[in-house]
Parts: sequence; structure tokens; C-alpha cells
Amino acid sequence: MKVGILGGGQLGHMLADAAHAISLETLVLDPKPDAVAGQVTRHLVADWVDESALAELSQCDVVTYEFENVPAEAVECLQHDTAVHPSPDALVISGDRIIEKNFFHDLGIETAPFAQVDTREDLDRAITEIGLPAVVKTRRFGYDGRGQAVLRSSADVDAAWIELGGQALILEGFVPFDREVSLIAVRGREGEIRSWPATENVHEGGILHISRAPAPDVSDDLRTQAESGLEAIMSRLDYVGVLVVEFFQIDGRLVANEMACRVHNSGHWTIEGAPTSQFENHMRAVAGLPLGVTDTEGFAAMVNLVSDVPSMTALKGRDGISLHVYGKSAAPGRKLGHVTVVAPSREVLETRIAEVLGVVGDRSAR
Ligand code: AMP
Repeated sequence: MKVGILGGGQLGHMLADAAHAISLETLVLDPKPDAVAGQVTRHLVADWVDESALAELSQCDVVTYEFENVPAEAVECLQHDTAVHPSPDALVISGDRIIEKNFFHDLGIETAPFAQVDTREDLDRAITEIGLPAVVKTRRFGYDGRGQAVLRSSADVDAAWIELGGQALILEGFVPFDREVSLIAVRGREGEIRSWPATENVHEGGILHISRAPAPDVSDDLRTQAESGLEAIMSRLDYVGVLVVEFFQIDGRLVANEMACRVHNSGHWTIEGAPTSQFENHMRAVAGLPLGVTDTEGFAAMVNLVSDVPSMTALKGRDGISLHVYGKSAAPGRKLGHVTVVAPSREVLETRIAEVLGVVGDRSAR
């Protein structure tokens, strides 16, 4: 069976590796000639809407994606000839923060207060309604903290408007969260849902820095809130594949920030830390294979390598430490690799994380 993948970054690379391990073939489409998935699978270097590339991709038994901003017409074209999972509706919803937050509301999933902002008058009105502090974000194409500005006081509004005005925007109330938590789940073609332990995420400058799984101190109630949110989303969309929702935790409640209808950076620890990785289960789901086990023993963490890859000789061969370097060219704010840590106890996990941060640098300490 052959699975087409739209997008050939590190997520595509890790999806292709997982697919090959369970005897699935893969084919990637990505306009970038140096897309890193091309290191491990055949790579069509062509525009997203290139007719002959789409024709070749539509020969695959199923097509999925690791990149969310694929033009809708490319997906529509593929759907004529083959199955596309997850549902392209999910792509439309997660691709626009206003549509996404309205969707959460329809399903009874709590979000920060929000308002649509197209003009400067809208922004002033939204600030009066929602209050400050608040966060103004582009509705589309924002990632890793790009395309957003925190408004702490009215003195910040003009500069934010100069930076972001003229695009479709959203104003969100600032959530004074206790921590950030994500839940990753997978739904098979027959509707079976499995999820991994909730993950606690620490961001630096809007970019994921460290994930820890299972997140410490997750009560049954918190776990149920997260699971029922994902189940509601997946059932509504007849979703097939891996889905992640990023939540803010505040006073024992979960407030949804955003969802990604693909494998996710906060689930990279599952490669070494779980019986079945998010990548393998995504491939299993879209290919219609039985899902692998997600119940996880032990403790895991992931440290992102951002902007540069330091020398990691000191970490090579160390117990419970695995290095992943993507082979991308360095650039400020770019995710270039990650280090996974696994351990039999939380104490050992923290010792190993400290060891890793000692070598790769602690972005939160800079
Ligand atoms: P996002 O691109 O929406 O994932 O935002 C990147 C990061 O900015 C989040 O992980 C949070 O740390 C922070 N952030 C985003 N939106 C809010 C909000 N409404 N309130 C507080 N912090 C936020």
C-alpha cells in the first residue's frame, strides 16, 4: 500500500520512516527541493497545485498531510481520485483561528474570549469588549508565535496594528495559564480512538522548548476534559489520523488554544517513549490498519533544538537519550532537531533533562 504525504519537512520525514517500518510505501509532495523527507522517500518537487504532481500523488491508495497550509484546490483535486485523511474540513477549520474557535464553541469546548478584527475600529471595539491584556494574532498562517503580538496595555496597540494590521486578525483575551498541556489522539477508519498521556509543554518565544509526558499531576477530571474535547472534534469530523489539541490549564480547567490536524511537535517523545509512536499510528489510521497501543509506561521528555545544532558528542550513547537532527539549514527560530529522554522515574527523567540542557543550552535561561 502506498501513502502520499503533502509536505516534506521533518514531520514528513518521521511519518515516512514510521510507514516504511510497517511496510507501507510513501511518496511526498513538497515544492522545496531540499525538503528533508526527500532523504528517505521519493519526493516530487513541484508546486502544491502542479497538475502532473497531483496526478501522480492521486495514484497513491491514500493521501495525508504533515503541512496544514496546503491550498484547498490541491486537496479537492486529490479527493476526486483517492482517499484523503484526515478530512479536509479539519484543514479548513484549523487553518483559520476564528473558524476554529467557533467550532470549539459549537462543541462546548472552552476557549479564551475572542473577536474578529479586520479594521482598526474593530480592534478598538474588541479591546473594549475583551479587555487587556490580550493577544492579537493573524487568523491564518501563524505558527511558532509568528504573526502575533501581546497587548499588555493600550500603549502597545499602535505598534501591534502597524505590525499586523491589513490582514484578517483575531483578538484573544490573554489567558493567565498555570501551564500548557496538549493531548494527542488518533482515530481509526472504524472510529476507534486512542490517546497518549497528556503532555506538558514549555514554550520559549512562542516556540516549543520542552515537552514532558505524562504531564505531572493530571487529575482524572482534567484527563476526561481533554479526552472528551478531542473525541467530540474527531467524531464531528469523522476524523481519521492523529489530532492534537493544545490547551491552557488554569485553575483545574482546560481552555483550548488551537488544534493541529496532523502529527505534532509535542508528540515527538512517542518515538522512543511510547509503545506506538504518533507517526506510526497516524500511518496505521490513514491506511486502515489496526491502531497500535498508546498506553505508556515510564516517563519521557523532548527538548527542541532551535536556531542551531550544538555539538552533542557528550550525549551520544547515554542511557535514555536519543538525538534527532533533521538535516535542515540553520536559521533563527527554525526547528532543526530534537532530543528525546526516557526514564523509569520522574526523578531520573529530570536528571537526564538537566544533562541534555547542559549540553544543548536552556533556551528559557537565555
Ligand atoms: P499559538 O501560536 O496560538 O500556539 O501561540 C504560541 C504561544 O503563545 C502559546 O503556546 C502561548 O504560550 C502563547 N499564547 C498564545 N495565545 C495566548 C493567549 N490567548 N493567552 C496567553 N498566552 C497565549
